Amino acid sequence: MDAGRTPDDRRTHLRSQTLESLAVWTAKRGFEDFRASQVAGWIYNRPLAPVEAMHTLPAAVRAALTEDFVCSVPGLPGNQLSVDGTRKFLSQFEDGRIVESVIIPRDERLTLCISAQAGCAMDCKFCATATLGLLRNLEAGEIVGQILRAREFSAGHPLTNYVFMGMGEPLANYDRLLVAIEIMTARWGLGISPRRITVSTVGLVPQLERLVTETNVNIAVSLSAARDELRDRLMPVNRRYPLAELMGACKRLGLPKRKRVTFEYVMLAGVNDTKRDAEDLIRLFHGLAVKLNLIPFNPYPGSGFERPSDEHTRDFQERILAAGVHTTVRTSRGRDIDAACGQLAAASPPRDQG
Ligand code: SF4
Repeated sequence: MDAGRTPDDRRTHLRSQTLESLAVWTAKRGFEDFRASQVAGWIYNRPLAPVEAMHTLPAAVRAALTEDFVCSVPGLPGNQLSVDGTRKFLSQFEDGRIVESVIIPRDERLTLCISAQAGCAMDCKFCATATLGLLRNLEAGEIVGQILRAREFSAGHPLTNYVFMGMGEPLANYDRLLVAIEIMTARWGLGISPRRITVSTVGLVPQLERLVTETNVNIAVSLSAARDELRDRLMPVNRRYPLAELMGACKRLGLPKRKRVTFEYVMLAGVNDTKRDAEDLIRLFHGLAVKLNLIPFNPYPGSGFERPSDEHTRDFQERILAAGVHTTVRTSRGRDIDAACGQLAAASPPRDQG
């Protein structure tokens, strides 16, 4: 926590800096050029640590860093380990806001689910985060901080995949997301291949088109209804960017660079999982190389929706598979600690379980 921060503090986050912006800073401050990559090494290639611990930096550089940047390390007000090995942890920032991140082991992979906002304004009707409303956007450094923290938890088992499927709509925080992706993928930063990163969106079409031209990350589109009248109700963003516009954009998504577009579909019993819904999906995907990921709804208190049975989910999947659409069912992880898809709300910090 940065106890000295006031509401009119205009400093940016230290871990939001690129090598280029650090070079500008060192020049402005009159420090040697190599200090920029030295600082980058401390903030991106080591565990999260306060500036005071960066012992190879001269005292003058450390003092200047704390004067010019927000250098706080996120607090860790809780973390929980599920019976299936999924870990949910909280990050608390200097203004007290809390977000959730989830580390999911599956086969040989270790996936980190990252939050891009505290809360969310998109109001998807099946999502616990939506009940919070948008609290604020995260800084790039707060996004990167979740990864550094996760690396500490997973020491000895490197993270293999990074998905922006935690709290918030990443494309609604576009500029900061882009900086975070630059830090994640740069050699001076976290050195992650863009092929290992997936940004999931409800379908903010202009930002989606920008992301495709400005990065090489994978895209996942949260769909959850295949006709406008139903999607308008479940995902209000559809009133701004209806299905025809969204699917048109997906067709132009710069393939074959990404080969297939992934669509996520939260299945709500009796609402969007009927034979008609399967047929609408097949029609919607006509002429497009897609991967469909079915996610049986994970209930949370007061949601008003139910999870379809495993048998019904399988039938729905097989109906779509029979039409030649690559379709998988996501097995939920971390349901016992409310860490599964759509359950993230950081309503109350979980107990610390090491
Ligand atoms: S599903 Fe994603 S975009 Fe929709 S309300 Fe939840 S966090 Fe926001």
